[in-house]
This record gives sequence, C-alpha cells and structure tokens, in this order.
Amino acid sequence: MPTTEAAELSPTLALACELIRRPSVTPDDLGCQALMIERLEALGFQIERLPFGDVENFWATRGHHGPLLAFAGHTDVVPSGPHLHWDTPPFEPVIDDDGMLRGRGAADMKGSLAAMVTAVERFVAAHPDHHGRIGFLITSDEEGPAVDGTRAVVEHLRETHDRLDYCIVGEPSSTDRLGDVIKNGRRGSLGGVLHVKGIQGHVAYPHLARNPIHQAMPALDALTHEHWDEGNAFFPATSFQISNLRSGTGATNVIPGDVEVVFNFRFSTEVTHEQLKTRTEALLDAHGLDYRLDWTLNGEPFLTAEGDLVEAAVAGVEDAVGIRPTLSTSGGTSDGRFIATLGSQVVELGPCNATIHQVNERVRAADLDDLSRVYEAILARLFVNGTARP
Ligand SMILES: [Zn+2]
Repeated sequence: MPTTEAAELSPTLALACELIRRPSVTPDDLGCQALMIERLEALGFQIERLPFGDVENFWATRGHHGPLLAFAGHTDVVPSGPHLHWDTPPFEPVIDDDGMLRGRGAADMKGSLAAMVTAVERFVAAHPDHHGRIGFLITSDEEGPAVDGTRAVVEHLRETHDRLDYCIVGEPSSTDRLGDVIKNGRRGSLGGVLHVKGIQGHVAYPHLARNPIHQAMPALDALTHEHWDEGNAFFPATSFQISNLRSGTGATNVIPGDVEVVFNFRFSTEVTHEQLKTRTEALLDAHGLDYRLDWTLNGEPFLTAEGDLVEAAVAGVEDAVGIRPTLSTSGGTSDGRFIATLGSQVVELGPCNATIHQVNERVRAADLDDLSRVYEAILARLFVNGTARP
C-alpha cells in the first residue's frame, strides 16, 4: 500500500514529504526554508535570512574554525502543469508500491535538501566539536530567472568576505544508480540574438531590394562549421546551435527587411566568452553583413578538476553505497556557476535525474536515505578523518 504516514518513514523521507507538500513553484518558498531553519537552529547554526526581491534565501553556518563546507540547494520547483496529467497529485507525496517517492520536487531537489539536513543532524550528534565549519546556502530562485537567488547570496558572501572552501550542490546528478555520477563542472552558456538588416522590396524587383536571408545564409553556414576548440579532458568541444530563425511577412512576393537569428554556445574552459564574441563578430564582418548582435552570458564554465572535495565526494560515495562514481561536466547550467566565482571547490551530487521537470517526478525512496549517508560520509572524510587543510 502506498504510504507517507510519518511514523513509518525515515527522518529523511519524512522531511522530504513535508517539503513536497508545500507547492513552492518559483519564486515561492511557502515555508520550506522555515522548516529547514528550524532544524538547523536546533543544531546551533547561525542563520542569516537574505531576501532579495521576491526571492527568499538563507545562509547558515555552524562552527568557528577551519575550512567551510556548504550544502547548496533550492526550495523552489518547476510548475506541475495540470494535475490531471499526473498519476498522483504532484503536491501530495506518496511512496508507491515500487518504492518510489512521487511528487514535484522529489528529485529536483527537495529530496536532496532533506538528505542534507538529516546528514548534518547525525554528523553533529556524533561530532559536536567537529573540525571545520558547515554551511547551508539555500534559495527559492534556481528554476526561474536565478538573479535574486544564489547569485545575490554569493555577492553578499563576497562583500562580507565569508569564505566558502567547499560546496556540495544537491542537484540530481545521478544517472542509473545513486552516486554513479558526480558533476565537477559545467559548460558555459552564451546566447546571442542577431538581426541582419536588408532592404525590403518586391520579389519581382530584386535589384531595388537587398535580401537579408540570402546575405545571412553563408555567414550562418560558416558559423555552424566553425571549429571553436577541441574541448579538453573534462569538456567536449564547444558547440554552436541556432535555436530560432525568423524572417518574412508571410507573403510570397515580399523580400523581407530583416532576419532574426537566435543562437547559443555551450562552451568549454578552452575558450572565453570574449573570444567567442570576437570570433563571431569577425566572421559576420567578413561576410559584409549589416547587423546588430545582442549577447547574453548565461553562465561561465566552471571546473573543479581535483582537490580535497572531489576526493572526499568520490570516497564518500564509496563508503556509503559501495560504488565508484564517475566525474562529469554534462548537462545545462546550474547554480554552481555562481558559487565557483568565490574560488570554491564545487561538486554537484544528488539523486537520479530521469524524471526531473516531468509529470510523475519520482525518486527511489531508499536512495534518499542513501544520499543522506553519502553526505554524512563526505563530512566525515573532510572534518573527522582530517582530509581538509585549513
Ligand atoms: Zn534543481
């Protein structure tokens, strides 16, 4: 029988269910953070609430000396869409007969938040005078514009000179089994909107017009064939993709006056966004286009190639669940891009991501208990067995 009777659940699952019951669609938090804060205050954490705009965030720390390991995550979830598309109501968590915890946010990432809190509860109970400092960086704006969330908290930490040596982001990094993949970086994302200007006219009088589609095509072809870099041991080669192409009035006898091209680079640490911009504009100039180009840097790439945190995370997974994780930089951008600018070592480690942002989002319930043990094992590796150098 499906159940979420609190008495029958582990502390991690009980907390995950409490969080899922709050329909905290971006940027709403709906008391999720208050729940976490209550638990952390009971452990002696100092809490700093950091609301920016309509986004709720908090920063919490425990301990006074040594390196700081922060758990980072978000309480917001993507919209559920119509509830009738779900097998079970999205904000009524339930563990089904296959042992899957179902509900919006189960995998992305309320399950991770619950696992972080319970891991720290057990760790602090066992090691009340632990070496190092433990932190939480929690936001309610990861899935939306991501302006007033982690980015703003990171700027606050930069101003207050609070150090952040290690950060574990609870994004669902696992693929087939809990802990099989740890993300130790992400590619950068650079967007562009290109307007190529022509001269509108009648198709029967092309000598009086200048067709921007015809002019843009060779340049776009060259952009799609450009070899931007080779990638490296951690990143695939940088890719350029056109995502939207708009032009024309709909009439068959009008040469359009302009073309709009929307494109995106996913780039490695072998090129900078400045280099990509310069090379793109040089190529457009070489084709003699009359254009305007607006850029949006969505995220710089980041990479934690090696170090104490990567070692402790790999070892922690082995300690807790007995498999050796692989390191990966695949996937879209994450809040790790902001945290890494503090010079922190950053990894992402969370449950399986097969159903995130989908109807019937779910995660193996036992995986969340295992994830909590993984987080606890990483704390032990860094702060008990003395891996971390202050
Ligand atoms: Zn997420």
